[in-house]
Amino acid sequence: MKQAEKKLRAEIVERCREMNSSGLNQGTSGNISARFEDRMLISPSATAYDTMTPDMIASVALDDESGAYEGPLKPSTEWRFHHRLLRDREDAAAVVHAHPTYCTTLAIARKDIPACHYMIAAFGGNSVRCGGYATYGTANLSDLAMQAMTDRTACLLANHGMIAIGESLPKAMWRAIELETIAKQYYLSLAIGGPILLSDAEIDDTHKGFAGYGLQDKAGKAKPARKKPTPRRRKA
Ligand code: 13P
Ligand code: ZN
Repeated sequence: MKQAEKKLRAEIVERCREMNSSGLNQGTSGNISARFEDRMLISPSATAYDTMTPDMIASVALDDESGAYEGPLKPSTEWRFHHRLLRDREDAAAVVHAHPTYCTTLAIARKDIPACHYMIAAFGGNSVRCGGYATYGTANLSDLAMQAMTDRTACLLANHGMIAIGESLPKAMWRAIELETIAKQYYLSLAIGGPILLSDAEIDDTHKGFAGYGLQDKAGKAKPARKKPTPRRRKA
């Protein structure tokens, strides 16, 4: 196995642990994936993060939708939406799915997050949609998630949780934490009379500023928070 793959597997395990230690997620809920060459590396299903090791990460070919995988443990039950995001979205090199309390509370109430804070721009538009409900792990849920992610880098999943993508694993994790933060702020604002929303023009201004702002990559350059997603490959 290439050194770069070993490193990415270790990073997925580390981020899974961070997902729980930061309070973003609980128990064995949630899952993390990242693209490595033409394959998806993804956390195994129902495995405690503190006992997870890099060799337990499942590997799935991006051009194979059969569910076939390499590894000692089954991939996450949510491999379908991870797979489609990594395959079809150029702005997704990594995917974080979790059940954070405030995101999930809004998702239970089936509320989109509106432009209540300028950080909404970090998710590609002027809202974060709440996708429809389908049973966890199904192709139907994957379809609904893809719809809710259109022109966005995050979404809520009705009565379930959230998804965030990033051009790197740190960026996807950063976005997941920012999403839970804005979800909490929106939720709390609803308790004191409701938010005063920002206009489309105000959000557009933020998007312009975000071209030079965001989590810094190793070279110290900010990666743009908004990039028009272009399909990598379409299947008939
Ligand atoms: P897995 O343990 O199979 O990754 O599933 C957790 C989850 O969040 C399902 O939606
Ligand atoms: Zn879930």
